[in-house]
Amino acid sequence: MADAPKDVVVLGAGIAGAALTDHLAKRSLNVALIDPRTPAAGASGRAAGIVTEQLWNPWDVAVTRESREEYRELAAAKEPEAFVDAPFVRLTSVAEVATALRAAVERLRGWGVSVEELGAEELRRWFPNGRFERLAGAIASDSDACVTPSTITSLYLARARGRGADAAFGGHVEVPTFSDGLWTVQAGESRWHSRALVVAAGAWSKRLLRDLGHPLPLTPYRTQAAVLRPPGSQSLGGGASLHDLDTDVYARPEVNGRILAGDGTEKFETDPDRFVTGADSEFLAHLAESLGRWVPEWETSEVVGAWAGVCTATPDRRPCIGALDPSSGLYVLTGFNGFGVMRAGGAARRLADLIAAPASESARAALVPVRPDRFGGKAEPFPPRAGFTLEGGSHPRF
Ligand SMILES: Cc1cc2nc3c(=O)[nH]c(=O)nc-3n(C[C@H](O)[C@H](O)[C@H](O)COP(=O)(O)OP(=O)(O)OC[C@H]3O[C@@H](n4cnc5c(N)ncnc54)[C@H](O)[C@@H]3O)c2cc1C
Repeated sequence: MADAPKDVVVLGAGIAGAALTDHLAKRSLNVALIDPRTPAAGASGRAAGIVTEQLWNPWDVAVTRESREEYRELAAAKEPEAFVDAPFVRLTSVAEVATALRAAVERLRGWGVSVEELGAEELRRWFPNGRFERLAGAIASDSDACVTPSTITSLYLARARGRGADAAFGGHVEVPTFSDGLWTVQAGESRWHSRALVVAAGAWSKRLLRDLGHPLPLTPYRTQAAVLRPPGSQSLGGGASLHDLDTDVYARPEVNGRILAGDGTEKFETDPDRFVTGADSEFLAHLAESLGRWVPEWETSEVVGAWAGVCTATPDRRPCIGALDPSSGLYVLTGFNGFGVMRAGGAARRLADLIAAPASESARAALVPVRPDRFGGKAEPFPPRAGFTLEGGSHPRF
């Protein structure tokens, strides 16, 4: 039981809520992080952890770059294996997609992203056993990385606690109430009061926000990943990640020569409390076939493990970050459309600035592209759109 009211209660101990708690505690705010489960029990404990600057606008690039450097610093101090530099390679066998990819290079360079076009020979640097006869185009950005999202979440949490933050996990969380200028949150046996409340509850945010009377257009959806052991030593030799634009399958290097590969995104709504947590056989077959298109040996990889998680879509695929109801101090940090690991640190820092100084013009300006009120209070149902990021061009895929 907390006696004095907190400045902020954060709901949700995924990577976003943990990063936010750390950034709020750094500003000497009195903050508590609450979750009915354990930290990283949601999408953050199931994510692939690819961090890339091949994104949709300069805001997004800046947020992700900041996140990456924060993860690098966090991991270096305590868990160095949770962060590895890994260039991100995209490739296609379709001529018109290759044209769009070339346009993306120009666009990304204009935003300061270090990205180059590649031919088959250069691809063999990373994929020595690759077969690139059908290659129409490929690009790589060399400042990208792969992280272990659950470890980064726990590192944020440990640092936040070291800075004085409270945390309570594992008890049923009632829908918070607001009266006399304070939020009341009942979590298990504990009752917390706070001046501000942040919903950072991932796929559960939709229901929670509706129950709070501030619905947002969010669609939770299921997506899958698997760890594969390629035969022999045909792993991602040079330590790059790969995204096949034709099939939308991605793969990143894992320890011991394994590959973490995924997509399998479903285009309909899923209940985060009732979803199939294992992977489907169709998904595994699709992975094998897609990866085998470029590195034939990968088609016969052994499946070490496979799972599903639930992400949160928004109609325009941009997250929702900022004040939902300034009069009651209600904020939101969600809607990452399957890419919240790469954005959490930078997004949390910007939201912490706003919560610490709600009237600050610069803090508000830093979140304009992702304001939660941009949907005008409408929360109509919509289907999630599958696909790795890299948008903003003229091609329908990106
Ligand atoms: C298979 C897969 C692969 C992915 N790969 C990548 C990738 O390569 N790169 C990338 O950037 N992203 C990736 N993602 C997406 C990424 O996992 C998410 O965008 C990110 O983890 C979202 O973090 P979060 O903190 O918002 O939500 P979550 O991690 O889902 O955390 C939400 C938390 O809220 C808690 N909660 C629920 N209800 C309440 C309540 N009432 N009160 C308090 N707390 C509550 C939950 O228990 C949970 O712990 C992937 C996701 C999946 C599933």
